[in-house]
Amino acid sequence: MGPRTAGGSDRLFQNKSPQVALRLRLFCGNFRSNPKPTMIIVLKPGISKTDERSVLAEIRKLGYTPHVMRGVARTVVGAIGDELTHANLDTLTAQFPKLVESVMPIQKRYKLVSREAHPANSTIRVREHTLGGKKFHVMAGPCSVESESQLLTTAEAVKAAGATVLRGGAFKPRTSPYEFQGLGEKGLKLLAKARKQTGLAIITELLSESHVEMVAEYTDIIQIGARNAQNFQLLIAAAKTGKPVLLKRGLSMKIEEWLLAGEYVLANENPNLMFCERGIRTFETYTRNTLDLSTIPIIKRESHSPIVIDPSQGAGRADLVATMCKGAVAMGADALLIEVHPNPAEAWSDGAQQLTLDGFAKLMTELKPFIAAAGRE
Ligand code: PEP
Ligand code: MN
Repeated sequence: MGPRTAGGSDRLFQNKSPQVALRLRLFCGNFRSNPKPTMIIVLKPGISKTDERSVLAEIRKLGYTPHVMRGVARTVVGAIGDELTHANLDTLTAQFPKLVESVMPIQKRYKLVSREAHPANSTIRVREHTLGGKKFHVMAGPCSVESESQLLTTAEAVKAAGATVLRGGAFKPRTSPYEFQGLGEKGLKLLAKARKQTGLAIITELLSESHVEMVAEYTDIIQIGARNAQNFQLLIAAAKTGKPVLLKRGLSMKIEEWLLAGEYVLANENPNLMFCERGIRTFETYTRNTLDLSTIPIIKRESHSPIVIDPSQGAGRADLVATMCKGAVAMGADALLIEVHPNPAEAWSDGAQQLTLDGFAKLMTELKPFIAAAGRE
């Protein structure tokens, strides 16, 4: 199967004769802004005209218009068509193993989330705040909303320490059905109460399409959890509320898949998307997950949407959270999502990774020089 990489076009001009490379450049230049995806089919060297005709006939049969670019040693074909309504051309390499060398897209598979579509950084309005702008934001609060006193105590403390958004799960995606599943709507009501009392904006997870209206009624930011990061119907439902969407990276999700999941939000007319790296599953067990901080420069390069780092799920250990936060700030993250609990030892979920109220206040002080050094406020 031909390579279908995010940046297929970067490799497009390699190993081509000058004539083919020039024609390709002109071809790509003409069609890069074409809304219909365009594919490049590289034919094997030295194939007969009859063989070439059979490949072209198949391309036409699949609903694409072929444009032949002939070089001295090899021929490439640009094909214009619409993958939404036609089969994609990847199958050509399997269909013609002796004739077709590779099939690659000219354009990246994600469009609206890409930097090319929107060169400036996107900023997201959340109540009176702007995320993704000059000001660095910290979202903090318990893993789960457990009780009024737990939530309000945490909300007051994180606000006093400088957080602008209160986090707290009302619907919890638990590995075991016998673990605490969240307070549901009661948890949402407590979050709304905490917002009223402190002025903090709130973020909470949307776990199911059946809750979308209820969750959207209470929250300022909809969190799509790692386990649902490729639940496309849920992403569409979240997007359609118009609320800002924070999209966690799935446990074993490649960056291109994550960008494409984000594309679902923008393609459903909601520009208010934030990516959130929360660690991926690797062979390492020292930490709960492996927090992939390389996603900060990568998302910044590939996309205009803000990138948020969640070191709590990322490390799974409270003793590592502060260091990971400093690294994330220094590397250009736009915000942090941190779990904080008045008594982590008694937390109903994720106790090992939650900071105490004092630990969080200390972290916020320690972060200040890092925020300034990163050119943020
Ligand atoms: C959480 O934020 O508490 C959570 C469940 O996150 P994730 O989806 O990243 O595991
Ligand atoms: Mn958690």
